[in-house]
Amino acid sequence: MIIVLRSGASEQEIEEVARRLRIMGFGVHISRGVERTIIGAIGDERKANIEEKIGVLPFVEKVVPILTPYKLSSREFRGQDTVIEVGGVRIGGGKITIMAGPCAVESEEQIVYTAQKVKEAGGHILRGGAFKPRTSPYSFQGLGKEGLKLLAKAREETGLPVVTEALGIEELELVAEYADIIQIGARNMQNFRLLEAVGKLRKPVLLKRGMMSTIEELLMSAEYILAQGNYQVILCERGIRTFEPSTRNTLDLSSVPIIKKQSHLPVVVDPSHGTGRSDLVIPMSLAAIVAGADGLLVEVHPNPIEALSDGPQSITPEMFAELVNHLRRILPVLGKEL
Ligand code: PEP
Ligand code: MN
Repeated sequence: MIIVLRSGASEQEIEEVARRLRIMGFGVHISRGVERTIIGAIGDERKANIEEKIGVLPFVEKVVPILTPYKLSSREFRGQDTVIEVGGVRIGGGKITIMAGPCAVESEEQIVYTAQKVKEAGGHILRGGAFKPRTSPYSFQGLGKEGLKLLAKAREETGLPVVTEALGIEELELVAEYADIIQIGARNMQNFRLLEAVGKLRKPVLLKRGMMSTIEELLMSAEYILAQGNYQVILCERGIRTFEPSTRNTLDLSSVPIIKKQSHLPVVVDPSHGTGRSDLVIPMSLAAIVAGADGLLVEVHPNPIEALSDGPQSITPEMFAELVNHLRRILPVLGKEL
């Protein structure tokens, strides 16, 4: 349920509604808009009559059920786009944010050089995995803590905030110490204990769509994080498995306008994992932005042929600069900017 307060409701009145809801056993989530404050009451609505106990208060305008299974992630709960700020970079709300970097951190030289190139071309956030979810246990698993330290070094050198993945609860605290944004990968999208754990942090989370998950399941996973009080969630479309063998995944770009309609959370698109092919990264990046994405997550490697992971889908710094230049040309048409 959402409780819409009359405009101009005081802090005391907001607290009174919150207090009553807590007594009734609801989780309380307050969203302060420009016009009005909305309170989300999350819990089993069948047990309590909110209308009778809260709807009657003079400063309550209306009590409305949220029809979607996800509540706090829905547009009904929050009409305006959520904008997430990290290290001076804004994600969502009309700006296009570009996150780029190698699949995995491999060495100081590799990550610092890539970060410099990403920054030079106009990228905003550095990506790079220190803990890698690899299909084979014999593949390069990432540098672990050493990788996190190298990311911090690259951040120091360039000023770019860092997004990096936490594979499990065990290393979450460590990753949170170094990362500006914590990535939850496709394979962990429904690791509910991990989602709850990042929900307890107060750090932005990049939540990737599971390769076999529906849009609704993605939003339900975001809900796990928001329900714990962490509202800084960025969703990422990274392609889903289909029968089509020409690409590693099928990049479902129709999910972008669908999510933007259903949710206030920012959405970025990962054309690298979405296609598995470096030659498709530029066209699909442009398509993603035209479809309404708030940003991109792109794999860039100084020497893709020698990359320890995901070389075939990694673009060179030169191609990355070309991508940003293409974007600069189309963004004015869309009324957006980098
Ligand atoms: C990644 O971004 O490095 C990654 C492993 O992606 P995904 O979880 O989408 O496969
Ligand atoms: Mn990768």
